[in-house]
Amino acid sequence: MSIQNNRLPEKEYAENFSDLHPPFENKEAALVEANRCIFCYDAPCTKSCPTGIDVPKFIKQITTDNIKGSAHTIFISNIFGGGCSRVCPVEKLCEGACVYNLLHEKPIEIAKLQRWSTSPAIENKWKLFDRKNTRLGDGGRKNVAIVGAGPAGLSCAHVLSREGIEVTVFEKESKGGGLMTYGIAAYKVTPEFCANEVDFITSLGGIEIKYDHCFGKDISLDDLQKDFDAVYLGMGVGLANKLNIPGEDLEGVADAISFIYDIRKNSYASVSVGEKVVVIGMGMTAIDAATQAKRLGAREVTMVYRRSEAEKNCTQVELDIARLDGCKIQWLASPVAIAGEDGKVKAIVCDVMKLSTPDNSGKPAPVRTGETITIECDMIIKATGQRPYEKLIEDNHLENLNGKIIVGKSNETNIKGVFAGGDAVNGGREVVDAVQAGKDGAAAIIKYLYQ
Ligand SMILES: Cc1cc2nc3c(=O)[nH]c(=O)nc-3n(C[C@H](O)[C@H](O)[C@H](O)COP(=O)(O)OP(=O)(O)OC[C@H]3O[C@@H](n4cnc5c(N)ncnc54)[C@H](O)[C@@H]3O)c2cc1C
Ligand code: SF4
Repeated sequence: MSIQNNRLPEKEYAENFSDLHPPFENKEAALVEANRCIFCYDAPCTKSCPTGIDVPKFIKQITTDNIKGSAHTIFISNIFGGGCSRVCPVEKLCEGACVYNLLHEKPIEIAKLQRWSTSPAIENKWKLFDRKNTRLGDGGRKNVAIVGAGPAGLSCAHVLSREGIEVTVFEKESKGGGLMTYGIAAYKVTPEFCANEVDFITSLGGIEIKYDHCFGKDISLDDLQKDFDAVYLGMGVGLANKLNIPGEDLEGVADAISFIYDIRKNSYASVSVGEKVVVIGMGMTAIDAATQAKRLGAREVTMVYRRSEAEKNCTQVELDIARLDGCKIQWLASPVAIAGEDGKVKAIVCDVMKLSTPDNSGKPAPVRTGETITIECDMIIKATGQRPYEKLIEDNHLENLNGKIIVGKSNETNIKGVFAGGDAVNGGREVVDAVQAGKDGAAAIIKYLYQ
């Protein structure tokens, strides 16, 4: 057993990482699907979208071939509407709420239709919005600093820019998009798409992204408060949780975020993967790590989770993807030690668990049975959640709960004029939640600047 790169021929990598949900093949196919929609009053699909996209309206616009109008309807609510059409867990959002489910029929393919309208807009950088000048007489043009060019930061930037406000985004990486670019599985969104989406968002004007600028290192909160009228913090969460078990420092133990980051930043062939991989966790990140390890050529991938299938954090659709990719699942197993040889991972030892009465999470608590199992492996990927940037937040005297920034109703932190949103506040949800948080933050900043 060994960890190595270049496990597959180039053609196989391309096939393994091709689009998970391909777009409609042609206009006729899109029209047939759009015409299935019955344009519900008080549409449940819209209500279940955290950004409140007017789904029946944009689908109706597709039926009349008004693709620009349709794209505008989507982007006015969600400027990441293109990315969201590829990465949103729609089975638990809009498509899960579609009335067709009640008739036991296939729900409308909302995500695919949304992709149909947003793709040409992003590819051709359609100018769908104007920047307001109306605020000019209102105390002069204002400027706002945003930390983080992820979905929260850029969604906030876009709304502010439409209002005529000058925005400077400080991003520690060399590309924008946040976890869209560096975290989400490559078979959902390609790096090229993410780069185009960021270009589309900034093409409105009034948004400058300063890449390779790290808040807390290259710039401080004092600097930002001095130079800008308001500050928005959208730096997400970044650090992988530790397992705190013996053997965690052995060669072959990786964290899912770094593993996926490597895949997103480098060529598939250059990323090393084990022959027998164990992934710890059962959330979206764990699924992405497991399926991508398999697609990089790992012979065997086993996912280990301390509860049962009923308590999993991922959706059924995601679990089905992992199963279809050939990943094995070991339910009711909790890692207690990693065994090694010559400094390298050799196996993982897990306590066998059973379920008891619910704990603080509301889910049945896993308790030890006294038995253990050992799974032979040469690579272990930890995907048991991420920790916020607690030290950075403490150093800046921001009120927080275990590193998650606390904001009031107005999205303002305990520091006047400093707002926050997205994963940095909620601890890690989905892209669409971060987009809405960015919109809410922008609305609060506009109120703060002009009242
Ligand atoms: C592996 C993985 C898979 C996921 N898959 C999905 C999925 O399929 N669908 C889905 O909807 N959601 C998914 N998510 C969740 C989703 O990616 C996040 O909820 C969303 O990106 C949060 O947006 P954000 O803007 O708050 O933070 P981020 O996307 O994390 O963006 C924060 C930005 O701030 C920058 N930054 C951080 N610190 C600093 C600093 N000190 N100075 C300057 N810049 C800084 C970061 O580089 C980053 O660009 C996934 C998450 C992970 C980890
Ligand atoms: S619930 Fe389904 S049928 Fe009704 S408007 Fe939404 S997509 Fe159309």
